[in-house]
Amino acid sequence: MAPAVAWFRRDLRTDDHPALAAAAALGGADGVVPLFVVDGAARAGCGPNRRRFAAESVRALDRDLGGALVVRRGPPERAVAALAAEVGAGSVVVTADFGPYGRRRDREVARALQAGGRRLVRAGSPYAVTPGTTRTGQGQPFRVFTPFLRAWERVAEREPVAVPPLRLRGAPSDAGPDDLLPDPPGRAGGVPGWWAGLPLGPAPVLPKAGSAAAHDRLRRFVDGPVGRYASDRDRPAGDTTSRLSPHLHLGTIHPRSILQHLGDGPGERRLATELAWREFYADVLWHHPASAWAPLAAAGAHLRVDTGAGARRRFAAWATGTTGFPLVDAGMRQLLAEGWMHNRVRMAAASVLVKDLHLDWRWGARWFLWHLVDGDIASNNHGWQWVAGVGTDAAPFHRVFNPDLQRARFDPDGAYVRRYLPEAGGPGRPGPIVDHGAERLEALRRWDEAKAAAAAERGAGTLR
Ligand SMILES: Cc1cc2nc3c(=O)[nH]c(=O)nc-3n(C[C@H](O)[C@H](O)[C@H](O)COP(=O)(O)OP(=O)(O)OC[C@H]3O[C@@H](n4cnc5c(N)ncnc54)[C@H](O)[C@@H]3O)c2cc1C
Repeated sequence: MAPAVAWFRRDLRTDDHPALAAAAALGGADGVVPLFVVDGAARAGCGPNRRRFAAESVRALDRDLGGALVVRRGPPERAVAALAAEVGAGSVVVTADFGPYGRRRDREVARALQAGGRRLVRAGSPYAVTPGTTRTGQGQPFRVFTPFLRAWERVAEREPVAVPPLRLRGAPSDAGPDDLLPDPPGRAGGVPGWWAGLPLGPAPVLPKAGSAAAHDRLRRFVDGPVGRYASDRDRPAGDTTSRLSPHLHLGTIHPRSILQHLGDGPGERRLATELAWREFYADVLWHHPASAWAPLAAAGAHLRVDTGAGARRRFAAWATGTTGFPLVDAGMRQLLAEGWMHNRVRMAAASVLVKDLHLDWRWGARWFLWHLVDGDIASNNHGWQWVAGVGTDAAPFHRVFNPDLQRARFDPDGAYVRRYLPEAGGPGRPGPIVDHGAERLEALRRWDEAKAAAAAERGAGTLR
């Protein structure tokens, strides 16, 4: 037998882990070499918040492995193949990755390993249902959430996967978790040059990282707030949601380990539905990798957006929480302060960027991905498209959030706005930078134009 390498990526835990269990079986008496690779390409567009959270999560994983984690510098096709050769491993085991970058990277790593007579073995996924495995009755990928949910509920894994005691083997590291930390100030890679002068972080407060923190968070949530989750989850002021998103993103907890605790109460069913949204977007991205940055709806590509100096000024007001819409400004300040924003406020903020300020949804999606500690290409970019009306829903562009009505409905006593925007309501606070009523009509006009352009393109396609 030969040892197996367990290469950790977005599965930074030691429990409920099919890939680790498979590595233990493959390595047998020769053991498992646990590996993490610091991969510069994977961090492009990722700001200091997620990098810090990732560094802390890797540190916690190393502790859970008794200090045996080998940390190497990328690129992965070189680093992984080199370690496997050094320790004489027969295979490298991973949790499969389903995003466009991860799939490409894993193909290259598999090729590099094969050249040395070794295998890349994929075991398990970061989801309760593996992306690409459910289909409509007609055998098509799902484009609408509710039928996906029905299919997902039938097959979702709800039992954690046991990991046998591990026989861990070491090897020298040439890097450490701190290598994930941000570039030196002034060298923020992967952001547009015109973001210079905008606040790029880090946030002063970040959630506790690591698998133990994730399970602690889960326990506290299922012991209390989940009972009110169905009714209160849209209220941003309280501790109403699980806050498990950064942990789910990095795999310090697996959805199975959450679902196993969820019974049939309304809050528990609702939480399972939210987890299914995450899996729906991963499934959509798997089937349509281009949808990471290109709108799914044909008309979306024709939507006229503003660019130039005026548009950039409006973006800066949005990004710094100075649009004059209190709920949105409070949300954008929460993002800068905590690297996280409540879902209801994400929707209101995204809607204002697209439908009141007439900016490209990709500008907002990039800003979110940079700052969010849970920044996830599938959930973020499809969440943006959903709000922008260019994504998976059938006809949603006309749903334009009114930021003041949203505030009155979901933050009626103003507790959320006061917390992140203490100056709100005080004398001299300027009003909104645009008139919502007028901009809503402008947004709808632009959408009609976009639809007409898409129809004309379809017509031209038919004639050709
Ligand atoms: C414009 C926009 C951008 C978003 N960007 C991200 C992102 O980058 N990463 C991310 O994880 N979520 C994103 N979401 C979804 C959602 O806002 C967050 O998952 C949620 O706020 C995380 O908080 P929580 O863990 O307390 O959620 P809870 O309400 O406790 O939900 C539990 C889990 O279900 C999943 N979930 C909940 N709502 C959604 C949703 N609408 N779409 C997909 N998954 C969901 C998350 O994994 C979440 O942790 C975005 C939503 C919008 C509208």
